Formats: sequence, structure tokens, C-alpha cells
Amino acid sequence: GGLEGVKDISRIKSAELYEKAKTFFPGGVNSPVRAFKSVYGTPLFIQKGNGSHIWDADGNEFIDYCGSWGPLILGHNHPSVRNKVIEVMQNGMSFGAPTALENELAELILTNNRFIEKIRFVSSGTEAVMSAIRLARGYTKRDKILKFEGCYHGHVDAMLVKAGSGLVTFGETSSAGIPKAFADETIVIALNDKDALLKAFEEFKDQIAAIIIEPVPANNGLLLQEPEFLQFLREQCTANGTLLIFDEVISGFRVGFEGAAGYYGIQPDIITYGKIIGGGMPVGAYGASAAIMSNISPDGPVYQAGTLSGNPVAMGAGIAQLTELLQPGFYEELDRKTAAFVKDIEDYVAAKGYELKIFRIGSIFWFAFTQQEHIRRADEIDAGSMAHFKIFHRELLNRGVYVGPSGYEVGFVSGVHTADDLEQTKKAIFDSLDVVYQ
Ligand code: PLP
Repeated sequence: GGLEGVKDISRIKSAELYEKAKTFFPGGVNSPVRAFKSVYGTPLFIQKGNGSHIWDADGNEFIDYCGSWGPLILGHNHPSVRNKVIEVMQNGMSFGAPTALENELAELILTNNRFIEKIRFVSSGTEAVMSAIRLARGYTKRDKILKFEGCYHGHVDAMLVKAGSGLVTFGETSSAGIPKAFADETIVIALNDKDALLKAFEEFKDQIAAIIIEPVPANNGLLLQEPEFLQFLREQCTANGTLLIFDEVISGFRVGFEGAAGYYGIQPDIITYGKIIGGGMPVGAYGASAAIMSNISPDGPVYQAGTLSGNPVAMGAGIAQLTELLQPGFYEELDRKTAAFVKDIEDYVAAKGYELKIFRIGSIFWFAFTQQEHIRRADEIDAGSMAHFKIFHRELLNRGVYVGPSGYEVGFVSGVHTADDLEQTKKAIFDSLDVVYQ
């Protein structure tokens, strides 16, 4: 009952902007997921954000759980971040020479992180991963990289590779424009598959430079791994002279200040960061032990550079955001509030007998329209269930809740979502689920 009478939101201005955007950009967007291809309607053009709320070009207001895909752990337009950015900008925006701000952000990170000793700033997560892979290859003098099906590592050639059929496969490229010879250097196996890993090490003995994993795989659903599997990777890498790369572009500073390495207590050899580290500005980073990092130019033979690397404005945003995250209790409170939010939805779902499972770690959550107790591998996700998400997404928008426009994407709770926001969101979720399952 009560399902009639929820009108679709007005999208007139967004639709006009999209028509115009299509004349400028392929698909009308500058990053593909924004195109709303797997949900109803066309993209909402966002006009402004403040705290946990965003407003689109038609004046619709939403409580936002996309958070720019993860960076905005303090919500939109946080005063500390904004004020720091404005302060830094008074002195100019880029010099291509060192500034004290780079030292300041590096010190904040390195003195509060037991897992890396040196860091290099770049301008995106993709760049961080690309550089980490080159570093691993340069350090080990090996060429092959092993990745897992269902982990996303940015649009790096070597990583746009998907599994073929079989336990251990050379990748097949998942994008046009990537030479087959590149894909031949990438081995792809399933997550949570120890046998495949052992087989890969056997088959490619002394050839694998690095294993790269999202320790919290959060780009293809939320494929939470058993800590024991991550530990197994660590042991196997050590035994085989292979470096373990944790891609913490999402999990870094999200599941705790020390990311997944700290959460699971596992020491990787190289860690990549992005998103949160830049406070909403374009920043990525990679770090490792001083010994491994000494291979990077100008100290060592592995070349890596960037005109805007360590950009002062971006460093300022990062400094302000990470300073807030270091306040005592920040992550505990974020975890507590997300846990309670998810629990209330689970209770509703159980009472109604709906087929829905919510996976969560810290402030990251994923709605899976399934009854499976665990989903640890990409091929365990039921693609058919995405039809439910499509309706869910439309109903949530109609009720003022914004989540990423794909059922494979996770949501993020921020430090500034209020009790009121979460109450309102739960109500919207309950009503939307009633529509999905009516
Ligand atoms: N690695 C992971 C785990 C990511 O989630 C992403 C982006 O979503 C990337 C790398 C690429 O980062 P960027 O989009 O900043 O290039």
C-alpha cells in the first residue's frame, strides 16, 4: 500500500544538459559509469553539494551515498577542506617545484601508517596503479602481473584484462586498443581461489613480478575476502619473490586511517592510494618501504613523473581532510552509525522476507539482491538480480536518495551523514524495496 503517488522527479534541465554534453563528449560524459546506462533515465547533472546533500540542475535535493565514488568521507564542501584550499590558492596554484605542503601531507600519512616508509604523489588512482606496477617490475626484474577477476585498478592497459575460461588464464583484453602482447603479461584468476594461485606460481615460476589485489574488492559489488586468503597471498608472494600490491584507492583511509593493511594487519610490499587522500581534488599516491621506493627516479632506474604531481591545492585539500580523519573516534563513530543503519534495513528485509543481502565493511555498503550468505568471487554475482537494482535506483531517486547508477557499485556513508539523514534514507529504502518486490 501507499506505493502510488510517488512521482518521477523532474529531469528537464538535466536532460537538456545531457543532450548538449553528447555533442561534446563521447556518450555525453567524461567517465563512462556516469552515463546511467544500466538504470532508468539520463544522468543527473549536479549543481552543488553541501554536507551529505547534493542538488541537481532541476533543483532536486538528494542525500548522497556516492560521495564522488569514495573521496568525500567528510561530505561535500567541508569547511576545513574548503578553507584550506582557498588559503593555499591565494598563493598560486602550481609551480612544478617542491612546496612545503607536499612534506606536510606526506608526514601526516607516514607518521600515522605503519605499512609504508616512503610515498610518491601522483594525480589519480590509475596513475598510482600504473606506477606501482612499473616499480614492481623494475624491482623484481620480472614482467608478469597477476590480478583477480572482479578487481578494478583503473584504466591501466595491463589491468584492463579479464579472465578467459580455465583456472589460470592469460588475460583477454577487456578494452579495444590494448595490444595482445600486453594482456599476455597479465595473469587473471578468481578471488578466493588458493588452488588457482598455487597453479599460477607453478606455471609461471620466477616470472611473476607482483600480485595486485583490492584487499577490499569494492568495484564489482563488495566481494569481502576472508582474512585468511589475504594472509595466504602474503605468504605465497614472500615464498616466490613476488611483490604484493594492495590497491587501496577505495579502502585507504576509508576502513581506517591505515586502510585494509591496518584493518587486516597484513604488510603488503606496495600500496596505492587515491580518492580520500586528495579530499576531492585529483590525487593518487603509492608507497612502500624505503628500499623498494629507492628504485624510483631520480634515486633509481624506474622512471615516473608528473607536471601536476603534488599540486599544492590538492595537497592542501588532502592535509585538511586527513587531519579531520585523525580526530580520536572518527572511524569508530562512522562504523557504529553505518552498522546501525545496515542493521535496521536487514531487520526490515527479514520481516518482509525480501531476497536482499547487505554486505558491509566500515562505512562501505553494497545491496545484493540475493540470499547468498557470502559473495567472494565475481562469478558468484547473479547478473539477473541487477533488474531489481534498476527499479530500486529509480525509486530511491524519486525519494531523495542518490546512490551510484549501477548495481555493481558500493555506497559510502560519510562522517557528516546525520541521524536524520539516515532515518530518512531508511524510510526511502523500505518504500523502494516494497516497490521492487510488489
Ligand atoms: N583502483 C581502485 C581500487 C579504484 O577503485 C579506482 C577507481 O575507482 C582506481 C584504481 C582508479 O582510480 P582513478 O579513477 O582515480 O584513476
